[in-house]
Amino acid sequence: MSDCIFCRIVSGALQAHLVYESPSAVAFLDRFPAAPGHTLVVPRIHAETLNDLPDDAIGDFFREVKVVTRKVTGALHPVAFNIGWNHGADAGQRVFHLHVHVLPRYSPGGRGVQAMGSGGDLGELSEIAAAIRSA
Ligand code: AMP
Ligand code: ZN
Repeated sequence: MSDCIFCRIVSGALQAHLVYESPSAVAFLDRFPAAPGHTLVVPRIHAETLNDLPDDAIGDFFREVKVVTRKVTGALHPVAFNIGWNHGADAGQRVFHLHVHVLPRYSPGGRGVQAMGSGGDLGELSEIAAAIRSA
């Protein structure tokens, strides 16, 4: 997909600060880092979201996320990471080629991804769990 900026980085058509390459994934520094060493890991094949990545590619891809996390740890010694991805425009996804943010933390006290939610009602848990199970 030539109009996809991450496909262009994967193919070498667009310059990026590459930190790791493998047959299944490429990792490069985020151009607008949220912290030093903020790295994006992308599958070589174009997939807009996790739902679009073939099942047989998922294991290899997430193995590479682990490799990159270990490499960032070795280089920069953060105290922790937030690792994850924005799934869909309303979750903040801006580039529609799946990418996992490997975001190092250098100080304690992170509030976690839960802090991004709007909260919920304890009373609804059974109903919601049943709905998800049967979907
Ligand atoms: P998201 O909001 O999850 O889609 O994140 C997209 C990320 O890609 C943002 O953090 C951007 O800073 C980053 N980004 C956009 N263009 C580039 C680029 N050419 N090279 C590196 N990172 C980029
Ligand atoms: Zn792409």
